[in-house]
Amino acid sequence: MQQETVQPFSADVGRVLDIVVHSLYRQREIFLRELVSNASDACDRLRWLALSQPELLEGQPGLHIDVVVDRAAGRLIVRDTGIGMDADELARNLGTIARSGTAQFLLEAGTDAAKGLELIGRFGVGFYSAFMVADRVEVESRRAGAKEGFVWSSDGRSGFTVRPAGHDLPRGTSVILHLREDAREFLDPMRIEDILHRYCDHIGFPVFLEVIPAPGESRTSLQKARQVNRASALWTRSPSEIGEEQYREFYRHVAHRFDEPFARIHARVEGRLSWTALLFVPKTRPLDLFDPHRRHGVRLYVRRVFVTEGLDELLPRWLRFVMGVVDSEDLPLNVSRETLQDSAVVAQIRRQLVRRILDELERIAREDPAGFEAWWREFGAVVKEGLVSDADWRERILKLARFPTTRSGLTDLSGYVARMRPGQKAIYYLTGEDAARLSNHPQLEAARERGIEVLLLEDAVDPFWLAEVRGFGGHPFVSLARGEVDFSGIEAEAPHGEAPAVEGRGLATLIARLKSVLGEEVLDVRASRRLAGSAVCLVAPEGALDPRLERILREHGQLKGPARRILEFDPRHPLIRAMAAMAEDATRAEEFAELARLLLDQARVVDGEPLPDPGAFSRRLSRFLARAVGAAEEAATVNEA
Ligand code: ADP
Ligand code: MG
Repeated sequence: MQQETVQPFSADVGRVLDIVVHSLYRQREIFLRELVSNASDACDRLRWLALSQPELLEGQPGLHIDVVVDRAAGRLIVRDTGIGMDADELARNLGTIARSGTAQFLLEAGTDAAKGLELIGRFGVGFYSAFMVADRVEVESRRAGAKEGFVWSSDGRSGFTVRPAGHDLPRGTSVILHLREDAREFLDPMRIEDILHRYCDHIGFPVFLEVIPAPGESRTSLQKARQVNRASALWTRSPSEIGEEQYREFYRHVAHRFDEPFARIHARVEGRLSWTALLFVPKTRPLDLFDPHRRHGVRLYVRRVFVTEGLDELLPRWLRFVMGVVDSEDLPLNVSRETLQDSAVVAQIRRQLVRRILDELERIAREDPAGFEAWWREFGAVVKEGLVSDADWRERILKLARFPTTRSGLTDLSGYVARMRPGQKAIYYLTGEDAARLSNHPQLEAARERGIEVLLLEDAVDPFWLAEVRGFGGHPFVSLARGEVDFSGIEAEAPHGEAPAVEGRGLATLIARLKSVLGEEVLDVRASRRLAGSAVCLVAPEGALDPRLERILREHGQLKGPARRILEFDPRHPLIRAMAAMAEDATRAEEFAELARLLLDQARVVDGEPLPDPGAFSRRLSRFLARAVGAAEEAATVNEA
């Protein structure tokens, strides 16, 4: 006998197994769905490969799945005649988790088993769910076309072994579960049949149930293997024949997710092009939504034969959360991925799919605004990428989009326009990392004072589409963080008493003195029309990049040097009026200069810009505070020491 070395599971798998095995899963029976689902995928893949390499079928074209209840040996076996795995594949596929986002998932789960279960529910446990019911799992497999078969074996704890089978194996894979003492319910053929009906009816290959009786058990009619599903692909059936539960199970099969889908599109198109699609939009974000390698989850079939998945040309990136199946009648069966990439048929299907998906999202937005808003919070940032990349769909995406504003909740742009103040022409916005923080920004004080609503755009994609999209319904998008703003044509909601403002010669002196103190640190200094409450803020010059965009580019090393900003002050603010008086007084020049630097740094803090000299800022601030509470002499002494 040869020596077997146990290979350890990857750390990810170890954690998943830990969660799966040690938590009493509410629905342990789902292991069967996972194993049959894998078997169905394996049949799909072989059927596709055999189109160009018919010898892989080895003269046995039958693709099917057998579930064997072996009551004699206490085992449950899920067997398929699909593609199979060689030794390397066994170790790689069943010893690591390839799905991206897993590491992130495990990080989130931490050591909290309940949290882990909930998260696992969002992406599925796959093959490893077998260890919920088995204390040993053996996987016998022979890759289609290969001579030798291999056996993978594990107790789900210490790792796994892979060895040559040593005897002939049929093509495909048998997953053999040695059932745990507490899982003997899965030796009941009725129970298994019931589960298969519930979870596997949508599977497009025949699933047979076979029973091996225990010694002394009477031979029943169940012994003969018999088919327990319809084996017609779900999407080919008419929607009126399909129940909610079947749709849901199909979603779980193609999406590898356990949540409820948010939207479903089951469409059949016959005409110049004929295709059927069964698509799902999930309710919560997949873990890898912002992973650059993330592909959409739509599988392409040609006349019921699985061809490929994640084909970039089939759906735009901004719909990469969509999952499901598209089955074309027009593409040739033995089509290569390269041909698909510039196929006119694929391009047309893509347009029609996008249209259907937008139709459905628009319908939900109309009929269930609150539900749609919750969904938009999960996926809006991705959909908005389409505003940048897909000019064809821009108008429709813009109508669908929801935004946080200075009012509570989200709004669409038509709602915003309907609430515009008399005389208001533009749609005002601010960009930043966080809408709640933005809502308190000095740059929107005057807007707020006049009852003007401001969009608070917190997604990284926002400054990018704003650089492309000029306006909505004839109203330009105008940033409150850039250029001059002028609300003078807009009526104030509640007229307020104007405080006296610094003006005329006093204003000119104040500006000249501020410029001379701050020098190169600012592009310009000017009186502001956007402040009401704060003394100062920084703004970007007209025509400059959006400040958030600038920050993003700087973080990625695509922009160097400090941000050039204009310092704006509110000429009505008491502090500014005091400084204007100070500016005329030569004996207070030093005090004025200190105050000017303090104000500039304060404006930087509000924007989250780094301070060039935080120490100096802090000392200055303390000195002024000390003076304000009447400790002037000491503060000065401390400072000189
Ligand atoms: P997933 O199905 O989401 O990829 P699983 O944990 O269910 O994750 O399976 C892991 C991998 O193991 C599959 O992607 C596949 O490559 C391989 N695999 C599992 N079962 C089979 C099978 N019956 N035949 C061939 N390959 C299989
Ligand atoms: Mg699977």
